Amino acid sequence: MTKENASVLLIYTGGTIGMIENVETGALENFDFEQLQRHIPELQKFSFAIDSYQFNPPIDSSDMEPEAWARLVDIIYEAYDQYDGFVILHGTDTMSYTASALSFMLEGLGKPVILTGSQLPIGVLRTDGKENLLTSIEIAADQYLGRPSVPEVCIFFENHLMRGNRTTKINAENFNAFRSFNYPILAEAGIHIKYERQLIYLPEKNTVLKPHFQLDANVTVLKLFPGIQESVVAATLNIPNLKGVILETYGTGNAPRKPWLIHLLKEAVSRGITIVNVTQCSAGTVEMDRYETGLQLLEAGVICGYDSTTESAITKLMFLQGQGLSTEEIHKAMNYSLAGEISQPKF
Ligand code: ASP
Repeated sequence: MTKENASVLLIYTGGTIGMIENVETGALENFDFEQLQRHIPELQKFSFAIDSYQFNPPIDSSDMEPEAWARLVDIIYEAYDQYDGFVILHGTDTMSYTASALSFMLEGLGKPVILTGSQLPIGVLRTDGKENLLTSIEIAADQYLGRPSVPEVCIFFENHLMRGNRTTKINAENFNAFRSFNYPILAEAGIHIKYERQLIYLPEKNTVLKPHFQLDANVTVLKLFPGIQESVVAATLNIPNLKGVILETYGTGNAPRKPWLIHLLKEAVSRGITIVNVTQCSAGTVEMDRYETGLQLLEAGVICGYDSTTESAITKLMFLQGQGLSTEEIHKAMNYSLAGEISQPKF
């Protein structure tokens, strides 16, 4: 149910949802929020207030950076008491990274922050943007038993509401572009929006929003593949100032049994580098004690990433490193869920 006198802040960062075709070149270019409103007159039909904030200039989400995430946190924090919910219009390419980062940076969140976008620009006849935007606004304003229905950072796309830090963009052209492989969807929009209330994280009463602005991006992703060379792994682990690595392994967290690999990993861990084991598979979890090929990583000091997406693991590492925590504290926090990103107990 929508609260009486509800209000939603729409934050427009850019992306396809707000793009229009340049008639001369055929390329997609950004257009501003007012134009967006003109293409969706339905926005006026909501019985509650919708204010907007626009990134100027809007950015393609390929240009998203930790600074822009901090800016989003700041906008939400400053406007937090004035609005019942927030909708962020964002390019789809890096939307899962932004949603993951925000879920950690907005500690104690008690209101909906719904990210959405589209595969086809709003001005185009068959656009998916209109539906995504209108339903996201409805979800952001929805209340249940006197409190927001979804006080989480989510992605709404093609009728599915998903916990943001569980999502991955899986398709470059279908409307159905996002998946949450390791956590069920939080709501489905059909004639009604059906919420799976038992799956939605509710903060404890009187929890206060604690914004975090600092991220440390001295991290990288190292994806294993058959034939990976010692020189490649050595060069990666010796990147100057590197503090964290997401190691994308096979299956349940397995790596080749090469003495040089284990030696390099052990040596990096001894230098204080955090190495997190995340599977290359789309679904399922890392279990490092299942096979010898995983156990050797555990023994080398590699941390289990459980059922984390790479997007979530990398942004969580940036977040934890940005808090100025010790290596031990970072390792501990990686083993717990901060915002429902892994199927582990809460921190
Ligand atoms: N390149 C665009 C972006 O991520 C694609 C999109 O919005 O779907 O900003």
